[in-house]
Amino acid sequence: MVLKSVREAEKQIFDAEMDKEYPPITGYPEYNKLVAELIFGETSEALKSKRIFTTQSISGSGGLRVGAAFLYKYLPKKVMYYPQPTWGNHVPLFTAANFEMRPYRYLDPKTMTIDEIGMLDDIANIPAGCAILLHVSAHNPTGLDPTKEQWKKLSTVIKETGIFPFFDLAYQGFATGDLDEDAWPVRHFVEEGHKMLVAQSFAKNMGLYAERAGSCSLVSDTEESAVRMGTHMRRVVRFMYSVNPVYGARIVIAILSNPQLKAKWMIELKEMANRIRFMRFALRTGLEREGSKRNWEHITNQIGMFCYTGLSEEQVTKLAKDYGIYMLISGRASMAGVNSKNINKLVKSIIEVTS
Ligand code: PMP
Repeated sequence: MVLKSVREAEKQIFDAEMDKEYPPITGYPEYNKLVAELIFGETSEALKSKRIFTTQSISGSGGLRVGAAFLYKYLPKKVMYYPQPTWGNHVPLFTAANFEMRPYRYLDPKTMTIDEIGMLDDIANIPAGCAILLHVSAHNPTGLDPTKEQWKKLSTVIKETGIFPFFDLAYQGFATGDLDEDAWPVRHFVEEGHKMLVAQSFAKNMGLYAERAGSCSLVSDTEESAVRMGTHMRRVVRFMYSVNPVYGARIVIAILSNPQLKAKWMIELKEMANRIRFMRFALRTGLEREGSKRNWEHITNQIGMFCYTGLSEEQVTKLAKDYGIYMLISGRASMAGVNSKNINKLVKSIIEVTS
């Protein structure tokens, strides 16, 4: 499904009969400005003092890959710590960029909550000079995000330990329906004075999956260092794939630079987030109503597109084989695929395989 705001932006682009010339290596300056304001906030002090360098990237994966190549050069220890579990492409992507990958505790599978003590303890023991990967919102695959209090603790321990934060912002607005609320952890870290990287994507929140519009931002401590580091980041893009694609970026510019269209998009984004929240509620209450003895609270405690159901490998296999319902073998289901037409079948099938 294509968002109405995106269709409207496409019409404007078509009518404007735009060229197909190469854009600047790091993307259109207008794109980078609008995107940086979306992530860091229009009133961000770091933006005003020009301490943030942003380049367009080939969606979120490209942002991670460009950021990884950049960081590899400057990080004292070439080791990246990632939450256990994490998105399936994180470890291969950073490994391909020559990082050694090591996990830190995140999910407590017994309670299906964040293992706060384990996570903070593991992070406190990371050697200085390494990097840490953090999902900003709608953690994939668990759907469990730290609370603001937990983010504050994370900021403190990361600063004390002397490790470099690399944020993955693939779902801004998708968790709560509010763009500012979902970006709060990043903004908090900036306020706390961290130097950091942020990879960002419009695949989910604008539904631009195939257009590959994203970004990579570096937050530095001075304008001079942001300019210097920006030159290196520009070289990374140039040598990796030369220039960025323009079509998705033009859609993003058309939406973010036009207050009416932006407002339309934000309403659509809220609707997507609310629909997913409603489906989580319908799934949990459906399972409870049908008499399941298991605890399904985690379905509504989690947030965002993915639901870590807690189903075993055997149960997932049975769901696929006997009921034609598919999810990852880890039990991660995409809530985007659940709707009022298939929810009853889903509930009944889960009851069958879990009783
Ligand atoms: N990070 C996470 C956590 C993701 O879930 C995804 C997409 N599934 C991405 C990054 C990258 O997405 P894309 O390259 O399509 O923007």
